[in-house]
Amino acid sequence: TTAVGSMSDVPQDLLAQIKKLEEIFSVDKAKLKEITAHFVKELEKGNVEGGSIPMNPTWVMGYPDGNETGTYLALDMGGTNLRVCEVILSETRGEYDIIQSKYRMPEDLKTGESDDMWEYIADCIQQFIEYHHEVEDLEKIDKIPIGFTFSFPATQDYIDHGILQRWTKGFDIKGVEGKDVVPLFEAALAKRKLPVKLSALINDTTGTLIASSYTDPTMKIGCIFGTGTNAAYMENCGSVPKIAEHNLPADMPIAINCEYGAFDNEHKVLPRTQYDVIVDDDSPRPGQQAFEKMIAGLYLGELFRLVLVDIHDNKNCSFFAGQDISKLRKAYTLDASFLSDIETDPFENLQETGDMLKQELGITATKPELELCRRLAELIGTRSARLSACGPAAICTKKDIKTCHVGADGSVFNKYPHFKARGAVALREILDWTEPKDPISIVGAEDGSGVGAALIAALTIKRIKAGNL
Ligand code: BGC
Ligand code: MG
Repeated sequence: TTAVGSMSDVPQDLLAQIKKLEEIFSVDKAKLKEITAHFVKELEKGNVEGGSIPMNPTWVMGYPDGNETGTYLALDMGGTNLRVCEVILSETRGEYDIIQSKYRMPEDLKTGESDDMWEYIADCIQQFIEYHHEVEDLEKIDKIPIGFTFSFPATQDYIDHGILQRWTKGFDIKGVEGKDVVPLFEAALAKRKLPVKLSALINDTTGTLIASSYTDPTMKIGCIFGTGTNAAYMENCGSVPKIAEHNLPADMPIAINCEYGAFDNEHKVLPRTQYDVIVDDDSPRPGQQAFEKMIAGLYLGELFRLVLVDIHDNKNCSFFAGQDISKLRKAYTLDASFLSDIETDPFENLQETGDMLKQELGITATKPELELCRRLAELIGTRSARLSACGPAAICTKKDIKTCHVGADGSVFNKYPHFKARGAVALREILDWTEPKDPISIVGAEDGSGVGAALIAALTIKRIKAGNL
């Protein structure tokens, strides 16, 4: 962090702005604890029914035992990319081979027509299969089981079924919410006669939990800090009153996909700023994903942009004065990598930051203006990391987990500078640790949406064979 005092000759009006930003974007230890305490209650409520955190039962009944083998496909439909993988689970526990192709998820598909999206997805799978297999082989082989990682909230009555509760992460495709996405997906596969059979629909967090525990049995939570944010963990069926009607053994484990991006949709504890309110109001689903909108990668650049525009328009200070800021006025022109680059730029001259503002926005910034940008990026990035820590802290508190690994994946976790260290500091504050070594640590996860999806497909087939479905 850079103290305001160390900034070079920042004029009074900008210093006042920076001070105000520091106030509204900082989350101190007491607030983190208050948020976490409320979070614990909301997680509990969700398992009973009727809370704002969905706590979706996933029908993934326990961890892999290491004896899962075979060849599986995995389709990863996240927020930014589409990925098709072929995963070969080896006879040796924790080992696998994977081949994969990434496809860009065209921006207009995210707000387009349902059919176009499923057609595009099926085309990618077809391309993948044709590229990696001989056509003659395809006619001979049995249908390959596919695990579909659909990283959105879905209500599941069984594992190869899932009713989309609502789109998140800026998606807004008509006619899919409230519907089972599996038949839509299968219809597009059938049209192309692809030798593929869906065996499980999963969430990226559940995949992360399962894939990580496959290689590290101390992993108790799977988290995503990426375009969106969320976590999954293992609960006992007996602690999930809303599935009581299924009469499952009370001590049988079931993975719960929290969908905690929806935490505090009622705005009871999160320290929302006026900029968070605008992000929400202007999103396709206002009132949804309150927590996610303050911390996830999709929104970090937008928050930053909204603040800069606001300071520019403020008559009481001079900021980007006389500059044409029309490019900056366009919503979602900046993404989280813009903030990452600013935070990586050496503070001494902020040359790269200046170049980026010039090249991407046509703005020539003064040194004090660059320093404000830097401080703002730090504030938004730090708030994201600190609030992010409340999720795993709440799950560990709820489950009374004293020590474990939390497997984390996602672009923000993997790429945003200092995110891990800032999150770790916050976790220590929330859980009042004094030991030198953290009893709970958030570490890089295995590939949940690829390997995790394959493992869950394998677990599902095993359970069907054993007559346990
Ligand atoms: C979705 C979750 C997902 C998370 C991370 C959220 O927007 O609702 O299902 O796990 O993003 O990808
Ligand atoms: Mg992903």
